Amino acid sequence: MVPTLILAAVTGACLSPAPPGALAANAASLGTLAWAPFGRAETGWTVYVPKVAAEIATTCDVATPGFAAALGRWQGRHRLAATGVFDALTFAAMKAKWQGARPFVHIDGKTSCPPPPPDDRLATAKPGESYAGKTIRLRATALTAYRALLAAAKHDPAIAAEPRSLTIFSGYRDPAADAARCTTEGNCNGIVRATCSAHRTGLAMDVWVGNAPGFGPDSTADANRTAMTAGPQYRWLLANAAQYGFVNYVFEPWHWEWTGEPI
Ligand SMILES: [Zn+2]
Repeated sequence: MVPTLILAAVTGACLSPAPPGALAANAASLGTLAWAPFGRAETGWTVYVPKVAAEIATTCDVATPGFAAALGRWQGRHRLAATGVFDALTFAAMKAKWQGARPFVHIDGKTSCPPPPPDDRLATAKPGESYAGKTIRLRATALTAYRALLAAAKHDPAIAAEPRSLTIFSGYRDPAADAARCTTEGNCNGIVRATCSAHRTGLAMDVWVGNAPGFGPDSTADANRTAMTAGPQYRWLLANAAQYGFVNYVFEPWHWEWTGEPI
């Protein structure tokens, strides 16, 4: 039960005045916006709604004036026209902020790629912490941080009820092995696996945040990502992971990086 007073406050905020036309524009674009926020054509922005709502600090549904008003305030604070209308330009500003919070991105794309950590700084996750029995290695400090996060997440009944919740399906990846997979299997994860993956740091981990029927836990299909970001695991991470030092690569709801020590 939501206490009546809180409910009233939320409802009131969601009915607050919004820039003219923004409500209708957002409701319409939600399923129709044609854009390529990560270089690949996408339709609509449902997959990003939880992240955007968290960024603009609203709990209001997209199709409310309160959402448009919160978006307009965010745009105004970020030197954008405060239209309250979600668009590619606004998302690009958000994406720049989110990517900027990933230490790995600051070195990504440059000529140097960080060396992998020495072997003695890596630790192996327990079987129950990994997905489908995989052997997962991470920097020992990152694994400790993950365990604190997992323990907290399990206080959420929906997360605790699903044994796969936040289990790790990829951690440290040896650069030489990644390069070999790129060559022999053609599995290059775009250009990333062949050049400089965040997983070589031992600080990045891919965790199970659900999947749509018929898809794997790391499928970038939009239907899969939409199902993931609507689920309890991702939403918990959105609200809480930063407290444990974790940041997300927004295109991949499952990919989280620990920022607690230098790369
Ligand atoms: Zn990953």
